Amino acid sequence: MKTDLQIAQECTMEPITAIAAKAGIPEEYVECYGKYKAKVSDKYYNQIKDRPDAKLILVTAVNPTPAGEGKTTVTIGLTQALQQMGKNALTCLREPSLGPCMGVKGGAAGGGYAQVVPMEDINLHFTGDLHAITTANNLLASMVDNHIQQGNELNIDPRKIAWKRVVDLNDRQLRHVISGLGGKVNGVPREDSFQITVASEIMAIFCLANDLHDLKEMLGKIIVGYTYDDEPVTAKQIGADGAMTVLLKDALQPNLVQTLEHTPAFIHGGPFANIAHGCNSVRATKFAMKLADYVVTEAGFGADLGAEKFFDIKCRKAGLKPDAVVLVATVRALKYNGGVPKADLSNENLDALAKGFVNLEKHIENIQKYGVPVVVTLNHFVADTDAEVAYVKERCEKMGATFAVAKVWADGGEGGKALAEKVLETLETKESNFHVLYEDNLSIEEKINKVCKEIYGAGHVSFTAAAKKTLAQIEKLGFEHFPVCIAKTQYSLSDDPKVLGRPEGFEVTVKEIRISAGAGFIVALLGDVMTMPGLPKKPAALNIDIDADGNIVGLF
Ligand code: ADP
Ligand code: MG
Repeated sequence: MKTDLQIAQECTMEPITAIAAKAGIPEEYVECYGKYKAKVSDKYYNQIKDRPDAKLILVTAVNPTPAGEGKTTVTIGLTQALQQMGKNALTCLREPSLGPCMGVKGGAAGGGYAQVVPMEDINLHFTGDLHAITTANNLLASMVDNHIQQGNELNIDPRKIAWKRVVDLNDRQLRHVISGLGGKVNGVPREDSFQITVASEIMAIFCLANDLHDLKEMLGKIIVGYTYDDEPVTAKQIGADGAMTVLLKDALQPNLVQTLEHTPAFIHGGPFANIAHGCNSVRATKFAMKLADYVVTEAGFGADLGAEKFFDIKCRKAGLKPDAVVLVATVRALKYNGGVPKADLSNENLDALAKGFVNLEKHIENIQKYGVPVVVTLNHFVADTDAEVAYVKERCEKMGATFAVAKVWADGGEGGKALAEKVLETLETKESNFHVLYEDNLSIEEKINKVCKEIYGAGHVSFTAAAKKTLAQIEKLGFEHFPVCIAKTQYSLSDDPKVLGRPEGFEVTVKEIRISAGAGFIVALLGDVMTMPGLPKKPAALNIDIDADGNIVGLF
């Protein structure tokens, strides 16, 4: 069997200008980054912004198993299928981070015959957006420390600096550091820390900003720390917002690439789906919705995290109205949720499937709460049996959810036609009555309660003393109207990664609350969420190499 990299390398790509032409983008607005990547100028968006919007289709999934369920693969495959059926469709995806790429084996550019290319570039430095975000983030960090060094006019308490430095790698060594050592000329010593670039507030802001102006406003509102009197200090007070916006100016334009079937795809922005909202940039989505008739986009992790945040944060803030949801499940994930260990997932097991189906059932019900029609798709694996597929189909249809098998990994767009037909039929026959889960005017505590109880199935939500203290501070600072962004494990509907299936009535504890004043949401942590991952015992980087002809090997 060919690896994802082999399949990607065998693709004879079309020049990106030809792909842009297919998307209807005039050449003068295409900024080429080599032959196969480009950024698309917002000047063109401004010209076409009064066009009617495309249908917006969100791809999400059941709770993932450690293997990944194939959301990106299905997102790309569905777009390829729609194109094969003569529809004008565009994919919108997140950009990968180098942390997981060098850490745990697993690409972020799809799989099998449903991929975006050039996959090496996309997974590595791409068009430099992550470098720009890293640099903007660290400029602010350096200006905060310099402010203190130069006399600290704003009275910042160095023990209460909230702004972290970032690097786009998994490097646990940098989680807690002491910086500014070496005497008077080398800064003010303080406890400092790093997180991975994709976990930064800048990444979240980058993905939620409508345009450059909006970006600058949001960057200015970032709270970098607090004074000795506990008053917040913002990036605007530090005077960094203008220069940060300049560093992000080019990055903010969406990146255009192609699928293996030479259809256009936007890949832009890539925030975490726990401490941030987990989907590609608003800019790319809105741009795509003016260029195509169908836009297919992905939200990270399972629907409890990714889809919830897509709806309650991204769609709320950007005024987007999704028309349909494709909920990806795999026979393997359902069996895993039914208690089958990872090593036995390839054996037929209808009992475990029946037991694990409850996980999918809960996600279907959750999406129905938002008023958006749902199509369930089984991302087909070679070991899936006909009996297993038939069982899932029957259960889904009983619940009023449309069902289709997707064989896009094996067959590309051709394998996605059954799904595409169901999606088109759904768009034609079922109206989306999309609404958010909670209104802005509820308190932060009420919002957290609503998501935990209605989406996760919790019975009771408690708050630690520290979390309560931050709640009081949020009220004082006037951020009660923000939506909430809940960070918890992706492996379970609950806050315990070991509790699979459909847990109910459990208790969750909000351990910590953080304010993302720039991004405009409140982060509630239900567990220890790692914002600077470490490398595993055998990092993926050990397998990555280059041959004598300059070809990359071992990248997935
Ligand atoms: P997600 O977006 O849900 O994290 P991806 O689409 O990135 O998942 O897929 C994760 C990995 O699983 C990829 O390496 C991909 O090649 C592989 N994969 C996806 N679908 C299938 C399938 N049907 N059969 C075998 N491998 C698959
Ligand atoms: Mg993905």
